[in-house]
Amino acid sequence: MDKILIIEDSLAQAEYLKSILGTGYDVTICLKGDEGFRKAKGEAFSLIFLDIIMPDVDGFTLLKKLQETILTKYTPVILVSGLADVQHEEKGLTLGAVDYITKPFSPITVRARANIHIKLHHYQMQFMRQATVDQLTGVANRRRYEDDSILKWREAVRLGLTFSVCMFDIDKFKIYNDTFGHPAGDKVIASVAKTASSFLQRSTDFFGRYGGEEFVAIMIGNDAKSAFEFLKTIRQAVEDLHIPHDPSVSPWVTISIGGVTLLPKDGDSYDEYLKVADNMLYKAKNNGRNMVVWSDSGKTEWREK
Ligand code: GH3
Ligand code: MG
Ligand code: MG
Ligand code: MG
Repeated sequence: MDKILIIEDSLAQAEYLKSILGTGYDVTICLKGDEGFRKAKGEAFSLIFLDIIMPDVDGFTLLKKLQETILTKYTPVILVSGLADVQHEEKGLTLGAVDYITKPFSPITVRARANIHIKLHHYQMQFMRQATVDQLTGVANRRRYEDDSILKWREAVRLGLTFSVCMFDIDKFKIYNDTFGHPAGDKVIASVAKTASSFLQRSTDFFGRYGGEEFVAIMIGNDAKSAFEFLKTIRQAVEDLHIPHDPSVSPWVTISIGGVTLLPKDGDSYDEYLKVADNMLYKAKNNGRNMVVWSDSGKTEWREK
């Protein structure tokens, strides 16, 4: 059931609006602006009705905050006003409200507007998910990687935590395609993605398809040695899928992984460390493949199956 939040200082008005919306929605009422903001951040609402005139904060200010907050910026907001005033309406819609309704309400049109904005919200969310998901594997695509990697990097800098980034690459995959065909190759890419991503499920983890038969993973808060050990587990899990490779290459499909762990500081460059990870991957390839090579971005380097 879709959730609707009503932020409105008058209990009578809020209750009336709730009664108009009927029983098809799960409606929450907040009589204070700041409490409404907290609520809006804490739960996934499909629509917010926001009163413009409230004693503690005016609706325009709150609308602006909702628009600037990552957790609430995609939730549609309908402004509710006692003022049938074009300037207020203009201001509200310019600030990003999807609609503007004035008291007294016409119950049928309010319900119809709520329905249509919720429907549009679902379309938008579906579109956004599809736009950042890799169609073949279902993991994050390159576009989401570009956004999320920078957010994770900043988070690690802000919290003073270690940052690990690594590149995966399927071994001798051109030969696989040549031997078994491209559609079979696609299935292997999907299986490798499924296996690797199942290990990287923490909210601080990232796993995505970098392109072709290459993947990228990010972890926050691990020391270099434990990150190395963890990625060894993933490498082993892929080998344990026992997907037959061309016998001239190896019995099973395998992956090589190169990674680096560091404690990022303000001014460090993410791209520089991605290059280190790439370099480690290059070493893994040159030292026989099916292995993990890891750097602590200082003196130590580990390489092992
Ligand atoms: P290496 O061990 O050095 O990584 O050898 P490789 O053959 O995997 O390396 P290379 O980068 O030369 O080839 C990657 C191959 O991956 C080329 C292409 O046939 C295959 N590939 C890339 N993207 C896809 C895809 O989406 N589907 C399939 N089936 N194959 C792909
Ligand atoms: Mg009011
Ligand atoms: Mg490659
Ligand atoms: Mg490859």
